Amino acid sequence: MDYHPIKKPNVKNMKVKPNLIKRTGGKGNAVWDGIQQELSWLPGGTLNMAHECIDRHAEGAGKDRKALLWEGKEGEKETYTFGQLKEESNKFANVLKELGIKKGDRVFMFMERVPELYIAIFGALKLGAVVGPLFSAFGPDPVKDRLFDSGARILLTQPALRRRIADILPDLPELEHIIVVNKNNRDPDPFVKGDLNYDDLMKRATSELEIARTSMYDYSVMHYTSGTTGKPKGAAHCHFAVVQQYATGKWVLDFHKDDLYWCTADPGWVTGTSYGMFAPWSNGVTQLIYEGGFKASMWYELIQRYKVTVWYSAPTAIRMLMKAGEDIPARYDLSSLRHINSVGEPLNPEAIVWGLKVFNQAIHDNWWQTETGAILIANIPAMDVRPGSMGRPIPGIEAAIISDSFDKLPPGKEGNLAIRPGWPSMFRTYWKNAEMYNSRFRKGWYITGDRARMDEDGYFWFVGRTDDVINSAGHLVGPFEVESVLIEHPAVVEAGVIGKPDPIAMEVVKAFVALRDGYEPTEELRRDIMAFARKKLAAAVAPREIDFIPSLPKTRSGKIMRRLLKARELGLPEGDTSTLEED
Ligand code: ATP
Ligand code: MG
Repeated sequence: MDYHPIKKPNVKNMKVKPNLIKRTGGKGNAVWDGIQQELSWLPGGTLNMAHECIDRHAEGAGKDRKALLWEGKEGEKETYTFGQLKEESNKFANVLKELGIKKGDRVFMFMERVPELYIAIFGALKLGAVVGPLFSAFGPDPVKDRLFDSGARILLTQPALRRRIADILPDLPELEHIIVVNKNNRDPDPFVKGDLNYDDLMKRATSELEIARTSMYDYSVMHYTSGTTGKPKGAAHCHFAVVQQYATGKWVLDFHKDDLYWCTADPGWVTGTSYGMFAPWSNGVTQLIYEGGFKASMWYELIQRYKVTVWYSAPTAIRMLMKAGEDIPARYDLSSLRHINSVGEPLNPEAIVWGLKVFNQAIHDNWWQTETGAILIANIPAMDVRPGSMGRPIPGIEAAIISDSFDKLPPGKEGNLAIRPGWPSMFRTYWKNAEMYNSRFRKGWYITGDRARMDEDGYFWFVGRTDDVINSAGHLVGPFEVESVLIEHPAVVEAGVIGKPDPIAMEVVKAFVALRDGYEPTEELRRDIMAFARKKLAAAVAPREIDFIPSLPKTRSGKIMRRLLKARELGLPEGDTSTLEED
């Protein structure tokens, strides 16, 4: 075991201290040792994600290959080759350099999905800055918390977003410059005095740049977690993460050079960077970036028009497509799709059945977290999908189910999902909270906070978040199992299950369900759903109570917030709701 988390919190100056980070993952693991040879690296064994994703293609045969096909929300279209992305990101790096940005400084983006966001992220990485993309639907408070916590020196944003957060800007003592992108001159009154105009800065910048010789353990990207179980935590990753993002792009997403890939996640969440930038581009793959939001018909149209071959989405989006019905997809040619993947929440077996009907193929679930930086457990294309299972650990990853005293449990037993630390894309700290970071590592394991079980064949089955598991008369009930059965009922489109305190059983299972369009919330339907669940689940596991609600409370990354359902049910304080999606 050659891993130790950072021992001494260094809260005052969180700039990189490689000597504090025990070097792991790169040595002694044949899988990672092998795959990292496929990347180019920089002189002296240094590594920079931007070089691996952009420049190594731009400087070789990939120069004129398309990297990014952008479709704006007003129907605008732009294309960037790897060569162009290199030039533009070099320019942005020079813009930041002129502004005094150095290695380790935090550069944050509060942007819609426009090409300038992607250019800026790679530009900042080229300098060795730590990037923090924020989801554009955030209100002022979550933006303030994150900019304050990270001590960002630069904020890149757009006029309407800047107006939204105007009031919080004076409360950010470390923020020095605001750079504003007025995309395609969409905004008639874009700039506030003192702001910098992105277009002007870029016009003046040169595209000559030497990429910073970052160490593989220098911080690169930080993401705040989704806030599903509590206050979001700032997980920081290092440049070495690209090794695993590259590998999983090949193994799990099955990237080939001629693929047209679409990741529906926003870069404000880890899936939108790890798999909306680093995995596809380190593999030299062309990707579609769509600025607009969710609309079932538009999504199907994009797949048809761009001939998307590999698609990465999330259960919440899949449930929304399911809700929209099967008539819409029948109007589109979706035959270009070769491989569909899902992450973020458990993928209900019902969604896989639906995928087989609509796309004529299984949706492949995979599991990972903001903290893990890349996929760790997956249904890879070569495996038989077992509906309801997250798949098996990818090569190089040791996953296990361990007891509450951190000992390994045999197959079939439910317990804590744990990972042997040291994988390349592992987070290296919670920003300004090294203590909490250290607490996640116990007896040689990283404790994920999820509960699961492993079957005899090594497939992992998600049970629930540790906090969400219900103890009903001595039975441990995972909400996922109950929710999956509920959504098999034809009237139910979404379900959230909690444990409600009970004097006799300790907790009883209570479900909140949202109905498919066309169904009315009647007493008769309630009884019917209850009977349906009882038939499929053991009596102790089936919900005792069912409430109808129009939609379930979700994080802005689309996860059901069971803790909020519970707090509301019990009349308790709601806790941190900074990532709660508004209706
Ligand atoms: P917070 O840590 O702030 O409470 P969060 O855990 O939802 O929020 P993320 O890092 O975005 O933040 O999500 C990771 C979590 O999402 C996992 O720990 C797991 O609970 C859930 N998850 C992700 N993929 C899957 C999957 N395929 N099956 C089941 N659960 C998944
Ligand atoms: Mg989490």
